[in-house]
Amino acid sequence: MSVPPRIGFIGLGIMGRAMALNLVKAGFQVSVYNRTRQRTTEFADLGCQTASTPRALAKMCDLVITMVADNAAMDAVMEGPEGVISAFAGGNTLINMSTLSPDYTAALAKKCYTAGVGFLDCPVSGSKGAAEKAQLVLLAAGEKPLLEKLSPVLKAMSRAIIYAGQPPAGTALKLCVNLVVAQLTTALAEAAALAEAQGIAPALVFEALEKNPVMNCGYFALKKDNILNKDFPPAFPLKHMLKDARFMLAEAAKKKMELPVTAAVESLLSKSYNSGYGEKDLSVILSNLTEPLR
Ligand code: NAP
Repeated sequence: MSVPPRIGFIGLGIMGRAMALNLVKAGFQVSVYNRTRQRTTEFADLGCQTASTPRALAKMCDLVITMVADNAAMDAVMEGPEGVISAFAGGNTLINMSTLSPDYTAALAKKCYTAGVGFLDCPVSGSKGAAEKAQLVLLAAGEKPLLEKLSPVLKAMSRAIIYAGQPPAGTALKLCVNLVVAQLTTALAEAAALAEAQGIAPALVFEALEKNPVMNCGYFALKKDNILNKDFPPAFPLKHMLKDARFMLAEAAKKKMELPVTAAVESLLSKSYNSGYGEKDLSVILSNLTEPLR
């Protein structure tokens, strides 16, 4: 990367804000766009340019990075007369780091290649804390020389980059990793609920897991306070894991296979979402297990 790219960052939510701040800290020239304009203020205070539309942002930059909620959010920032695609010229690059569906990602890659735009499919593993500490694990797919060229940018947000192949392989890998995260979360919540129902302190479940070297998992530590205090400030909002669980099931259905435990997890997440908990951390599923049955 002889000349550092001018980076345009789209999506300053829980993850994107922290990732963009790390790019600024690393010394990159970063401009930002966010649907809710107020979230760009702290970046303006740091000397970053802010754009009023995704198109205006893309016009200012060589490299656009997206970290938005879902396929619909990606459509909103990419498509139409004010979208990123309308401003793309050959030589630009797009790195998508949001978790979208594999089909959406494959179609996006095709659109970019047709327009002469480089594309990396690069979702992330790790939550709010890892994003803040630039300790994300990136699940990358795309042309290797492009990945290598842009690795200084990616390294400013991460501790490791795992190369998965061509798009949508990064997204496919992300869904497999999140399948484990979803099931670990439900396992913790069900264990805590069962402990409580039997008159055992849920803290003892954590203690027993922590004392056993083969069961002592960093993810359990990450969710411990949420489960024990029944307080669920959003690190990974439940609505995003519900979206991912549905992507997993759709992929499995396409391959004519079943994921019975993931299907059960999806219905638990749906129930929680329908209880109005979509914006809370996904560990909020505990509430649906401990609230009395109606
Ligand atoms: P978030 O806090 O909900 O932020 C979502 C971002 O998308 C915000 O900037 C939001 O803009 C924007 N957005 C949503 N709908 C939009 C629309 N229709 N048009 C334009 N912009 C829109 O989400 P997050 O936790 O940062 O997650 C972002 C992505 O990373 C998701 O795909 C998620 O699955 C994935 N992910 C999250 C985590 C995690 O632990 N949180 C970990 C790994 C991967 P506003 O500010 O205007 O709402």
